[in-house]
Amino acid sequence: MESRTTTTEDPNRPIGLTAPSGIDRAAHHRLDEAWLAAAWSHPSTRVFVVSGGQALVDETPDGRTELLMTPSFEAPLTEEHRYFLGTDTEGIHYFALQKDALPGRMDQPARPAGLREAGLLLSPRDAGLLVHAVALENWQRLHRFCSRCGERTVIAAAGHIRRCQACGAEHYPRTDPAVIMLVTDDEDRALLGRQVHWPEGRFSTLAGFVEPGESIEASVAREVFEEAGVVTGEVEYVASQPWPFPSSLMLGFMARATTSEITVDGEEISEARWFSREDLRTAIETGEILPPAGISIAARLVELWYGKPLPKPLN
Ligand SMILES: [Zn+2]
Repeated sequence: MESRTTTTEDPNRPIGLTAPSGIDRAAHHRLDEAWLAAAWSHPSTRVFVVSGGQALVDETPDGRTELLMTPSFEAPLTEEHRYFLGTDTEGIHYFALQKDALPGRMDQPARPAGLREAGLLLSPRDAGLLVHAVALENWQRLHRFCSRCGERTVIAAAGHIRRCQACGAEHYPRTDPAVIMLVTDDEDRALLGRQVHWPEGRFSTLAGFVEPGESIEASVAREVFEEAGVVTGEVEYVASQPWPFPSSLMLGFMARATTSEITVDGEEISEARWFSREDLRTAIETGEILPPAGISIAARLVELWYGKPLPKPLN
């Protein structure tokens, strides 16, 4: 039952895309072509197609949402874009195939879905498989040429390396660390901001990319000051979330403000405000603001401070 779909009403639900998937990535097999060939052709092996960040999902009779996976003999074989994702505790191997389009499934009510729609519905195993495949797909698509010499690269290591055939350089999947933080002040109010390109009324936590040569603690302080003009002191790590849109790893923090005056940068953040819990409840219930929602760790950081699931608009 651990794969049972959780709802947004469950305060103990795992942070989306962060729960352990139960899959051993078995990285030591990635360069072993004979092992990969045997794993691929094993009758218990399961395969799904990833295309443009989406895969086919299906509803089970008992109401769960699952990745639609097939045995490898039913899968369209394209070794060039075959990603080995790992092996579960029962010895079942999982592969993703990157294709230009998702296969048609006229016989089933399967539908295409990406992580933002399906990430909270899928079991931790399926969400973990899909986030791994989408992250590899995004990286593969954007790294077809060698950053050292400019020649074409080819896929290797079952999707986890791109190798340059001209200069021999090996390129590894890229992950960009980003910090995302809920800042509170000495009255325990939360600082939420509105990015300039967000829909009217949307407020969420501040966030930004870690810069070269910067610690994550320094990045939290810099981003909060740049975006809102607020100085922060103590920083507490909460959790991380893979966010392959296209290649981020969100590092979630609670940060304590030592100043409270707000000066937004006007470029990334158009408005920022301190909210008490009562302020936030009223603002959401009246529809004045839209809180962070969905799968993002931002929603969970706000909830951790709020103490329970966020309220819904009353009308
Ligand atoms: Zn090269």
